[in-house]
Amino acid sequence: MSKSYDVIVAGGGAAGFFTAINIAEANPNLKIAILERGKEVLSKVRVSGGGRCNVTHACFVPNDLVKFYPRGEKELRGPFNRFSAGDTIEWFERHGVELKTEEDGRMFPVSDSSQTIIDCFINAVNTLGIQVLTGESIQSLYKAENHWKIDTKNGTFIAAKLVMATGSNPKMWDMLAELGHTIVPPVPSLFTFNIKDPRIKDLMGVSALATVKVKNSKLEASGPLLITHWGMSGPGILRLSAWGARELFAKSYQFVLQVNWLNDVDLEECDVLLKEIKQEHAKKMVGKKSPFDFPNRLWESLVTASGIDAETKWADLTRNQLQALAAQLVNGEFNVNGKSTFKEEFVTAGGVDLKEVNFKTMESKRVESLYFAGEVINVDAITGGFNFQNAWTDAVIAAESITSM
Ligand SMILES: Cc1cc2nc3c(=O)[nH]c(=O)nc-3n(C[C@H](O)[C@H](O)[C@H](O)COP(=O)(O)OP(=O)(O)OC[C@H]3O[C@@H](n4cnc5c(N)ncnc54)[C@H](O)[C@@H]3O)c2cc1C
Repeated sequence: MSKSYDVIVAGGGAAGFFTAINIAEANPNLKIAILERGKEVLSKVRVSGGGRCNVTHACFVPNDLVKFYPRGEKELRGPFNRFSAGDTIEWFERHGVELKTEEDGRMFPVSDSSQTIIDCFINAVNTLGIQVLTGESIQSLYKAENHWKIDTKNGTFIAAKLVMATGSNPKMWDMLAELGHTIVPPVPSLFTFNIKDPRIKDLMGVSALATVKVKNSKLEASGPLLITHWGMSGPGILRLSAWGARELFAKSYQFVLQVNWLNDVDLEECDVLLKEIKQEHAKKMVGKKSPFDFPNRLWESLVTASGIDAETKWADLTRNQLQALAAQLVNGEFNVNGKSTFKEEFVTAGGVDLKEVNFKTMESKRVESLYFAGEVINVDAITGGFNFQNAWTDAVIAAESITSM
């Protein structure tokens, strides 16, 4: 026998719970169910942010916030003007969860535990009478004239409206494709680079501000670069991986990375700088102390890579040696050979084509009464709380449009 609901939310993750709760709060009379294929709900929330759940980011201007989204920047501008990071803080405060901001802008519950967020959501669904049905893996979707028919392994559900919050699940994307949606093929985003190079071999843990570029492409990013035992990581590299997700996938993650350890200093300016340093420190040994604002160990390695003995005096450096050093400093080329996952915190670029979603309502432009929230659409962000912010914002907008009818 089929069970009937006003709204079925497919997927018991962050986006699904937030949508269901906001719908029920706006209209307590609606009969709502969340269908989750797993035994547990909110499993990504549990492990998120290293078990602390990085709920959002302290970035309160919508036009600044969108810049953290390699996919979704244009489309999220309107939605963030309706529900942004400040609204997230206020929402959680209203539901008894206080958030705190860390130095880098990431926001966590003051408890430093994702369980606080899970408890908040579970309390809300219990209070609001939302049914959370686990072990209900959706197998097929069918849109009749004025209702949805949803088959799971255990039975059939009927609903007037359907919210898709199934994250990056290829099976659900196939079903959405059958309904007429274009699915942008999924590729990984947020990864670190595998590099085997004598210049960084013994420098694990060294971190420096750098500008990184993919040779022969427009991809470029700046920020702290961290040398790891497998290659390079850190915010600058992650940013490059996110914006380059599709391009680097197409290159099978084999490319040349150009590193400028002096950021906006170019080759010519670096030549001039080195000549000044040569005069000023004429009697000092080159390898003794880094004249730049990065760790000595890195400096020593770049000096060696330039073919200069660390004990050479600055005064004795030849023109060629100075040029070689300048090239290492502002245009060090490293062969990247593959990628590694960043702290297991991967996201997927890809999903429902954004052209087919009405961002004023989060309703499908292809199929009536079908709504989207979270990672199921082709939106993703860099690390820092932005992926959850997308889930919260989509959810609120979908809930508002469902309850305003
Ligand atoms: C380890 C890790 C840590 C992260 N940490 C952070 C962080 O701190 N901050 C941040 O902003 N982002 C973080 N992210 C990204 C963030 O977790 C996701 O962007 C977010 O969870 C997406 O929410 P969602 O509800 O769209 O999808 P999901 O959380 O993936 O939820 C989708 C749900 O749908 C269910 N489902 C799928 N198919 C079916 C089906 N056929 N039938 C029924 N149910 C189905 C799934 O089982 C799942 O429970 C992290 C990601 C990972 C992997």
